[in-house]
Amino acid sequence: MSHRLSYASGESAVGLLGQAIGANLEEAAAAHPDHEALVDCPTGRRYSYADLLGWSQQVARALLAAGVGPGDRVGIWAPNCAEWVAVQFGTALMGAVLVNVNPAYRTSELAYVAGQSRMKVLFSASAHRTSDYRAMVEEVAPTVVTLEQVVYLGEEEWERFLSRAVEVAPEELSRVSAGLSFDDPINIQYTSGTTGFPKGATLSHHNILNNGFFVGELLGYGPTDRVCLPVPFYHCFGMVMGNLGAVSHGSTIVIPAPVFDPAATLRAVEIERCTSLYGVPTMFIAELAVDGFAGFDLTSLRTGLMAGSPCPVEVMKRVRDEMHMGEVGIAYGMTETSPVSTQTRADDDVERRTATVGRVMPHVEIKIVDPATGRTVPVGETGEICTRGYSVMLGYWDEPEKTAEVIDGAGWMHTGDLAVMRDDGYVNIVGRIKDLIIRGGENIYPREVEEYLYTHPDVADVSVIGVPDPRYGEEIAAWIKLRPGAEPLDVEAVRRFCTGRIAHQKIPRYVRLVDEFPMTVTGKIRKVEMREVTSRELGVDGAFGPTA
Ligand code: AMP
Repeated sequence: MSHRLSYASGESAVGLLGQAIGANLEEAAAAHPDHEALVDCPTGRRYSYADLLGWSQQVARALLAAGVGPGDRVGIWAPNCAEWVAVQFGTALMGAVLVNVNPAYRTSELAYVAGQSRMKVLFSASAHRTSDYRAMVEEVAPTVVTLEQVVYLGEEEWERFLSRAVEVAPEELSRVSAGLSFDDPINIQYTSGTTGFPKGATLSHHNILNNGFFVGELLGYGPTDRVCLPVPFYHCFGMVMGNLGAVSHGSTIVIPAPVFDPAATLRAVEIERCTSLYGVPTMFIAELAVDGFAGFDLTSLRTGLMAGSPCPVEVMKRVRDEMHMGEVGIAYGMTETSPVSTQTRADDDVERRTATVGRVMPHVEIKIVDPATGRTVPVGETGEICTRGYSVMLGYWDEPEKTAEVIDGAGWMHTGDLAVMRDDGYVNIVGRIKDLIIRGGENIYPREVEEYLYTHPDVADVSVIGVPDPRYGEEIAAWIKLRPGAEPLDVEAVRRFCTGRIAHQKIPRYVRLVDEFPMTVTGKIRKVEMREVTSRELGVDGAFGPTA
């Protein structure tokens, strides 16, 4: 029986990078200007490191010409594309804070984040599949008082915007870049909030450059690596672990498709000879199920990462054996910690690499505490996992009280995840304290869905839960109590009410009309019981999920 406490600090022979993101890209471009930095498969465009730097500098100068300065907020609302990467590095070079907007957001969510961040410029896709971004932006933009300019990526507005770069001399950009500090905020990533509105996790150059760099270090990245990224850039999995992880090692970013497409991902790996592939478990499950999977040549793959929600051991095994990803790892983290706190190592044995989320990242500390007392629990016991170090966000944008609820006086970020540390320092995530649903790797707080459904005139009360789902990990179920005399609502009617207003992944898959909710004596809705009932009715196993 061990009495060692569940605490670990990440040792490293390699130090933290003490530079801004732009300086890191400049170094990579100076070291190998002609090496391929970025491949956009859907359009066939290819960019060397010199091209990517030149393009990003053009974006940076055009932003300065448009009157945007360091610290101003610049939004991006688009599926993955080469321009996304140029905007990421362009804003980093001149110090504007990039605000990532989830492409699945709809009008009410866009209006909130643009207003809350006091966004000055928005880069937006014009359309993708059934999403008419231009129409949604035109509806929302007049309500955002700070918004001065919208630039539609790849359209005439984008060319016109870029053409203004000539108004700002390269020396002027160098002067602005040299004035940046690596502790400045450079990115706001909105994460779902328990309070109903998303909160803007505000991250510095130091936070995300180092996290991306060490993710790449642990995967053994170098210039010969080609990293296939079907994960979205608006999320840290794409823009930090992917883009920054690759660029900080002179590796190549490969964009297989604008949004996740399993067959296009396999095609990109085959044609581009990718060495690394990222995904949430749902993505790997879909790739393994593609028609003609066995016909794809995936032998170039060496490594990759699965993260974002619990990674089933069986899926890990198939990824290793059938996708040739012998060195594939698992990472655990959250947006507020840049994101990764633990990761498996390339030389870990199979058990550690498939059945745990790894051990603490270099230069990061973790501990596991009893949520009731805050005391660190002995190794082997369950508690809330907390993270401290360079990776902890600066705070939630403009919400100091919300920040103080999650980062304590000693600098620990309280994750809301339940974990166990083993004797060897490896960690398992066993549940969640927070009332969070993870559907296909996307976080959804029930409260966000509930608040929207409350606006339906026939809804008297509503409670939303996650129920297990073999494909997405979890699916959304809403229990609805109707107003007296209201016509019964079915799942189709609820779907119609939500479509176009809230992101599609938040729309309930199941609706159950009830007269009452199961309550505790203190009057709290017993979501655990709701989950059991619905899981039983649907015939699914309810093993993982919030414990309270
Ligand atoms: P996000 O802020 O979108 O990155 O989501 C963070 C949350 O995803 C964490 O707080 C966990 O609940 C969950 N999560 C991330 N990685 C893992 C993993 N490897 N295993 C289990 N849950 C995970």
